[in-house]
Amino acid sequence: MDRQAKAVVCREWGQPVQVETITVEGPKRGEITLKIAACGVCHSDLSATTGKIQYPPPLVLGHEAAGVVVEVGEGVTDFQEGDHVVSSFISMCGKCRQCVRGRPVLCENARKAMFTLPDGTVRTKDANGEPLNVFGACGVMAEYATMHVDNCVKVEPGVPLQNAALVGCAVMTGVGAVFNTARVEPGSRTAVFGIGGVGLNAIQGCATAGAEMVIAVDNNPKKLAMAKEFGATHTVDLNEVDDAAKAIKKLTGGGVDYAFECVGAGPVVEQAYKALGRGGTAVVVGVADPKDKTSITTLTLPADERTLKGSWLGSSRPQHDFPRILGLYKAGKLKLDELITRTYTIDQAAEAFDDMVAGKNARGVIVFD
Ligand code: NAD
Ligand code: ZN
Repeated sequence: MDRQAKAVVCREWGQPVQVETITVEGPKRGEITLKIAACGVCHSDLSATTGKIQYPPPLVLGHEAAGVVVEVGEGVTDFQEGDHVVSSFISMCGKCRQCVRGRPVLCENARKAMFTLPDGTVRTKDANGEPLNVFGACGVMAEYATMHVDNCVKVEPGVPLQNAALVGCAVMTGVGAVFNTARVEPGSRTAVFGIGGVGLNAIQGCATAGAEMVIAVDNNPKKLAMAKEFGATHTVDLNEVDDAAKAIKKLTGGGVDYAFECVGAGPVVEQAYKALGRGGTAVVVGVADPKDKTSITTLTLPADERTLKGSWLGSSRPQHDFPRILGLYKAGKLKLDELITRTYTIDQAAEAFDDMVAGKNARGVIVFD
C-alpha cells in the first residue's frame, strides 16, 4: 500500500536539505517496507548534498538506519512483519562471483542499485508525483522506506533500534576496516586520521583488537577528546603540528603498522601512508571526490613492503557481521550508546547536517516516532 512519509530530501547540490512529505509505495516482488525507527547522519549523506558523491537529485537521503518490517512483497521468505532490519547501502545479490567468494560488499550487481532499487526504478515520489532517487538503494532518512531484501539485514530484537542503526554504516565501516580489511593484531601501533562517526569506530576497533598504540589525528580538539573515550592512547592536534606523519613517526619511533584514513582527501591519504613504518598498511576509508588524487613514493612499496588499500563498508559480510557487531555491543565489548551525541526529530534534519559540518557530534541520529 502507499504510505505518506516525511523524508529528508536533497533537491539541489549545494543547498540545505529539505523535509518533504513523500509517497512511499508498497513493496514489489523481493522487497519489503520498513517503518524506520532511527537513521544516523553520515558524512556520505552530506557528500551527496554537495555533489562530492554524485547521486543525482532529487534524492531521499539516508543509508544508516534500523526499522521494523510493516509489509512484505511477493516472493519474500526471509522476512516477516515485525522483524528488525538494518539497512545496507550496498546491494548484495548473493549469486555473483564476488558474493559467492565471500565479498558481498564488492557485489557485481551493486552498481545497479546506487540511487534506485536494483531494478532501476524507485518506490518514492514527491507531492507532484515525480520520482525521487534513494541514497544507496536505501533512502532511509524517512518515516518509511521500501527496499529490496538485498539491501536488508535482519537483526535480533533486543538492541535499541537507534543503536542498531549505526551498525549499518559508521560502526561497520570503522570497526570493519580494522577487523576485516587490516586485520590488526594485538600489540600493533595504529593511527586514525579523521575522528568522525567512522574514525571513532576505527579507534574503538583498534583498541578492541589489542593495539598497543592508537593515535588519533584531527583538527578538532573536541573530537580528540572523544577519541580518548573510545580508546585512543595518543592524540595529534593538527592545529599544533605542521606534519602529522612526522609527529606520528616521532611518537612511535619509526611509524605505525596500520593507518586509517577516515576523511576522504588525497593529502590525508598521503599523510596516512607517510606515517607508516616498514611493513605498514594504510587503509583508505574516506570517500573522496571522483577527481581527487593522491601520490606516494613508489620505492617505499617494495623497499618497506608497505601496502595501500581501500575498505568499503568495512570489507564486511553484512549478513554475518552486523549481528556479530551487535553481539559485541551486547557483551560490553563495543560502545554504541556513547556514539550518539544527540538525537534529532526529522523536522530538525537541517540542523543535524549543520552540526555535522560544525563537528559537534560523534554521531547525530534522527529518531522517528
Ligand atoms: P564526519 O564528518 O563525522 O568526520 C570527519 C572527521 O574528519 C571530523 O572529525 C573532521 O574534523 C575530520 N577532519 C577533517 N579534515 C581533516 C584532516 N585534514 N585531517 C584529519 N581530520 C580531518 O564523517 P564520517 O561520517 O565519520 O565519515 C568519514 C568519511 O568516511 C567520509 O568521507 C565518508 O564519506 C566516508 N565513509 C566511507 C565509507 C566506506 O564504506 N568506505 C562508509 C561511510 C562513510
Ligand atoms: Zn555512511
